[in-house]
Amino acid sequence: MLRSRAQKPCSVLGRSTRILVRCSDANPTERYVVEPASPPNDAGDEQLQPVASASLSQATCWTLSGMTLKELENFVSGMGEKPYRARQLYKWLYRPPVASQVDDMTDLGKLFREALASSARLHALSLREVREAQDGTRKLVYQVDGDSPGAVESVLIPASGRNTLCISSQLGCAMNCQFCFTGKMGLQRNLTAAEIVDQVTLTKARYESPRQASTQISNVVFMGMGEPFQNLDNVLRALEILLDPKAMGLSHRKVTVSTSGLVPEIRRYLRETSANLAVSLNATTNEVRNWIMPINRKYPLEVLLETLREEYARDARRGDKVFFEYVLLGGVNDSLDDAKRLLRLIAHIPCKVNLIPFNSHAGSEFRPSPLPQMEAFRQYLHERGVLVTLRRSRGDDKMAACGQLGNPGIGRTPPRMRVPDAFQKVLGTTPLQTRRSAGAQQGLSKH
Ligand code: SAH
Ligand code: SF4
Repeated sequence: MLRSRAQKPCSVLGRSTRILVRCSDANPTERYVVEPASPPNDAGDEQLQPVASASLSQATCWTLSGMTLKELENFVSGMGEKPYRARQLYKWLYRPPVASQVDDMTDLGKLFREALASSARLHALSLREVREAQDGTRKLVYQVDGDSPGAVESVLIPASGRNTLCISSQLGCAMNCQFCFTGKMGLQRNLTAAEIVDQVTLTKARYESPRQASTQISNVVFMGMGEPFQNLDNVLRALEILLDPKAMGLSHRKVTVSTSGLVPEIRRYLRETSANLAVSLNATTNEVRNWIMPINRKYPLEVLLETLREEYARDARRGDKVFFEYVLLGGVNDSLDDAKRLLRLIAHIPCKVNLIPFNSHAGSEFRPSPLPQMEAFRQYLHERGVLVTLRRSRGDDKMAACGQLGNPGIGRTPPRMRVPDAFQKVLGTTPLQTRRSAGAQQGLSKH
């Protein structure tokens, strides 16, 4: 990456030790990084926070959300402040009541607050709209900063005994899975750690009530827009904040990152975090997986599953299981032969299988598997000792279900893959358009 030192120091109380560096990266929202003029500590340059700057004045150059405690310590020491200030900021950023502006942080000195207000902002996202589905699922649309197209979408799914927040890791996705609405957007860009963490902090701040345990967000899943393992550095940094008891303090068993199957990143992830792993399998032959999930051409089924077998045997991952996601597509991957093959593929991997009904979207050539077929598939696995659930589809009347996030209108739609001969007939006999019209699906209820 080419860099040219083009900006004057970002003035913080007139005692700045930082230099703004303009990067020649194409990504407009990560245009500036701030490098300490003094030698970096062991946290290193990599841990410094890229900031969304396009709409900020040059004086407001930091985004505090998404920073780890160590990064905040670097930040406050650059302002000539003591490390305990970092701990104060850390709390205000991630523990309820989360501060929405600098003046909310009442235990900080006035001068320090003034300095912060002129040099930093707390959050990278702001809530633009909420769409509520009939079943109570809410799609939250967050405005991103600057001239980046699109919005960050999260989904809050209430259920008895738990509330799950499904968050995004990228704007769009490059993986081009054929059944996925988000895939039709292509990749716009990675989300920063701040943008990932903000989806959780800002949603908690809006919906959790301190006196009502039933409102607490208990589970977080990275199953929104994007392939998290293509943005692994930022995802790992966000996980550190989500799991740290001094920050958000979520249990590692309640946080799950889902991948389409990037093998080297799976290995790295399992070494660097204790959060759960989900793998979207979705097919039982390479022929079908190559077609519906093109990443399979790089990491075929046998390589992917052997990796998981090895990794989960290695240290028994403290008794953890991998979650296999399997979207049931009518006539494509929902036969009992598929169920038999699936049983063989996952043998000796500690796992749980989540069967997901296909959520329709305009223009998709796929159709959902009929309910009795899905039930028979589930039953076959269950009777043979597999932990398996058939997930209920949630929020799809507001395009808030799995694989329905994003806005394909803003990007260049990636090419469709060739349908293997054996499936031409199945898809040819199904309507190309879903029954529901795109307009009806995208109706808004503003809150
Ligand atoms: N990119 C990651 C996480 C986001 S996708 C991954 O692929 O795992 C989250 C889940 O939604 C995946 O399991 C994916 O297979 C599923 N999904 C995508 N499109 C879907 C659709 N139209 N209906 C149902 N599930 C879908
Ligand atoms: Fe990307 Fe996941 Fe959708 Fe595939 S299923 S296109 S990896 S978001």
